[in-house]
Amino acid sequence: MAAAYDVIVVGAGHNGLVAANYLARAGRKVLVLERRAIAGGQLVTESFGDGFVADSLHASAQLRPDIVRELDLARPDFAPATAPAYVALDADGTHLELYTDARAGAVEMLRRRSARDAARWPEFVALLDTAARFLDAAYRAPMPRLPRVSLGEGLPLAALLWKLRRLGGRDLFRVVRAMSMSAAELTADWFETEALRAAVAALAVHGVTLGPMSAGTGLTLMHNWLLRGGLAHRPVQGGVGAWSRALVAALARRGGVLRTGTEVRRILVDRQRVLGVALANGEEIRAPLVLSAADPRHTFLALVGAPELPPDFVWQAQSIKLRGSVAKLHVQTRGGHGLPAGTLAIAPSIRELERAYDAAKYGEISERPYLEVTADGAIVSIHFQYAPYTLRHPVPDDAAATIARRALDLVERYAPGFRATIERTHTITPRELESVYGLSEGDLNHGQLILDQVFFLRPLPGWSDHRTPIDGLYLCGSGVHGGGGISGASGRNAARAVLKTKVE
Ligand SMILES: Cc1cc2nc3c(=O)[nH]c(=O)nc-3n(C[C@H](O)[C@H](O)[C@H](O)COP(=O)(O)OP(=O)(O)OC[C@H]3O[C@@H](n4cnc5c(N)ncnc54)[C@H](O)[C@@H]3O)c2cc1C
Repeated sequence: MAAAYDVIVVGAGHNGLVAANYLARAGRKVLVLERRAIAGGQLVTESFGDGFVADSLHASAQLRPDIVRELDLARPDFAPATAPAYVALDADGTHLELYTDARAGAVEMLRRRSARDAARWPEFVALLDTAARFLDAAYRAPMPRLPRVSLGEGLPLAALLWKLRRLGGRDLFRVVRAMSMSAAELTADWFETEALRAAVAALAVHGVTLGPMSAGTGLTLMHNWLLRGGLAHRPVQGGVGAWSRALVAALARRGGVLRTGTEVRRILVDRQRVLGVALANGEEIRAPLVLSAADPRHTFLALVGAPELPPDFVWQAQSIKLRGSVAKLHVQTRGGHGLPAGTLAIAPSIRELERAYDAAKYGEISERPYLEVTADGAIVSIHFQYAPYTLRHPVPDDAAATIARRALDLVERYAPGFRATIERTHTITPRELESVYGLSEGDLNHGQLILDQVFFLRPLPGWSDHRTPIDGLYLCGSGVHGGGGISGASGRNAARAVLKTKVE
């Protein structure tokens, strides 16, 4: 019997939806299967009951502009009234507003702290913009499966190296050097104001289980700078879920089918060739191609299963490092919470940031966490680091209550009276990131963004071109080259890899 679909995509996160759209645009019959009742993965705006609506995980998001263009997506607008300021809070509560554009007065506040730092700031911003452009090009380029590189695979890499050369000797040296550095070293090279160093370092560790003194946080700084478009969030009108709705609508226009509330239990394989999928409800759906947008470890070990894979590959897949330590707290207030507009980083010094991370190393929830606070009217959302997935000791009350208490205590110190405005809270721990959002070990990026798990090492050395040891099975989520974060790059790269392959 002929299969009803050419391709099945497992998971309707934004990368799965981007891949599905490219494949449908190329005339493939596509079916997307999503375990949750809502599509979008981590890119959703949800209700937590009775009008308590928030961007569940991401305070802002944007897909790469070329993907928006190529897929002809209805681009959501940025919220108009938002000040794109990144506000660093000092230990004494004074504010340092940072802007990455060239507006008049953009460096005035900084100049009051240090004339030297104010003079260097525009140059630092320009360097990070350059680094972000390079990273964008790298994420767009298919990675060769080192060490075996065919001529065809080597060409995109050669083009990328050429682009890198065109940065010019000085910038090239600075970007490559900065990638492997720690954020603490990098910011110390540039600035003397502690609040400024810490504010930049906070962006570098945002979303990863690393501290500002960890090697490679230079790279994660560039990564977050690229995806955020600078330091501050630019909230999306109607919530970040508008992006996912735009992708779903575009897929429907192209004849693709999306089934939500549909969990894939197994990827069916026969003699290392994919056959289709088996659903949790027992139904089997056949297709010659399957793309998994779930994380690589889950895909290989849970959905495919070790018996179907070469033993040394199973060992490698088991070694993919997943380390969730981010929690999210949404607070519904009565308004008048006293928090300024913009993106508030509570990370007063590199030392405090590193101490917050130390807790995660020892399996503990940070007592003085690094917080990033964003307010959307009466709703205040708090990104909390670090709350490790695996706790060494049980906490006195449950993890969610501990996270909420520590976050709210800290915000109250900077905005006295904030607590009195609270009506309700909703906490998402790394355990919920796994059980609700499908993230193994609560790892946001489907695999840590660390130097030995990026570029041609992502998800595994020798397997960075979206293919797998199973013919017809591809990976398209954040755990592969181009991910993590919100950009759509890994979804597009995977779709292109599929379209280059001939199906027998
Ligand atoms: C609080 C927070 C802050 C973040 N900040 C940053 C940041 O600053 N920088 C950064 O780079 N990244 C950040 N991220 C990470 C970023 O959000 C992710 O990398 C990105 O959203 C992943 O998108 P995706 O489409 O690849 O996967 P996901 O959005 O995770 O989607 C995968 C989908 O697959 C579905 N699925 C899984 N298994 C199955 C199955 N068996 N059957 C059917 N469906 C299945 C899941 O339900 C999910 O919908 C952050 C994440 C969070 C939670």
